[in-house]
Amino acid sequence: MKDRKVTIAARWIFPVTSAPIADGKIELDASFQILEIGRRCGMQVDIDLGNCAILPLLINAHTHLDLTGMAGLNPPDSDYIRWIKKVIQFRMSQSRDTMDLAIQNGFQQILDSGSIGLGDISTTNYPAFKDHSEFTILRFFEVLGLTTSRQEQSWRAYQRLEEADVASGNSILGLSPHAPYSTSRKLFELAGRCSKKVCSHIGEFLEERDLLENHEGPFAEFLKEFHIWQPDELAPSWEWLLQALPDYSLVVHGNYLSPEHLVKKGHSVVYCPRTHSAFEHPPHPFREFMAAGINVCLGTDSLASNPDLDTLSEARHVHRLYPEVPGENLLRMITQNGAKALNLNRGYGRLEIGFRSPGFLAIPLSPSDPDDPYSHLFESDTDLKVPRKIIRSDTISAYLS
Ligand SMILES: [Zn+2]
Repeated sequence: MKDRKVTIAARWIFPVTSAPIADGKIELDASFQILEIGRRCGMQVDIDLGNCAILPLLINAHTHLDLTGMAGLNPPDSDYIRWIKKVIQFRMSQSRDTMDLAIQNGFQQILDSGSIGLGDISTTNYPAFKDHSEFTILRFFEVLGLTTSRQEQSWRAYQRLEEADVASGNSILGLSPHAPYSTSRKLFELAGRCSKKVCSHIGEFLEERDLLENHEGPFAEFLKEFHIWQPDELAPSWEWLLQALPDYSLVVHGNYLSPEHLVKKGHSVVYCPRTHSAFEHPPHPFREFMAAGINVCLGTDSLASNPDLDTLSEARHVHRLYPEVPGENLLRMITQNGAKALNLNRGYGRLEIGFRSPGFLAIPLSPSDPDDPYSHLFESDTDLKVPRKIIRSDTISAYLS
């Protein structure tokens, strides 16, 4: 980028933290700090994106990139125990090389969708993502186990990673005690005392409660079948688990939780809408969560349960299910709320004067002129025919030449 100011204009600008601006422009300095956002008023600009909407790059708060190779192999349905067994089988069949390839492939899909921040569950030491200095990944290392040996093995693997962890660009190590049915009370306690960001799948399935509180139900049968039935190692309840996690953790799914479970510790909830629908759960309580002041963001989950890794498509799915949810809220869920959940710095997920932005997403629009400008984002799918443009601070020079 040349050492000068740059102006970018488009039919609509969605700053997220303020109202959409028709016929808008953004002025940036050489470091991509936003100097001004407002109406264009006929002004000459450096880059005119025309019939597009500019919004911040997106945040995908939950994926499993190592399952990218499972696309289409195991469509989810209401028989989730069958689905979980196939995921375990698939994981065990993967070599380190195929897993690395899957992660790289998934990462490219995340980039192409226009995301700039990601919460990913990792089960291996991660390959480095070079040449993407603005991209921030919270890689939550997964720990699990109910038998003593599996618990110890898993925790040692995390400790090794933590000791070796040197600042590696924007890849930040976090920790993920997997789920109530796979992870011991002790591992949740250890996670509760760690200094990293923590993320866990809690309240994804109603029957988790039967397992924790009564030691019965389909998860008890599942653990017996795998010869890892250790009821004394289980946590006593969802409430206990949510209390054990550090403040401001990410609770993935939370399909069967209530706001009282979550508010005390300031946890964020990651709703994965299309995966939620594919498993045929009852309606997700995200509206009650938001009304209670809980931070709700969206994630795509993995290609083992979802058709793609595009967070905007998740928001469009929510819009189809619940058209009454304001577009402003949907946009926050895929930008600002995700950035807050992942502790990303203030330039992520919003366009505001004074913040240094990692870049913008430009969505091509249809020529229509709906009353609600958010309809452009959540009702149209013009960008599935005409590709989205991703304008990052390190690629802006290509637009200026
Ligand atoms: Zn997950």
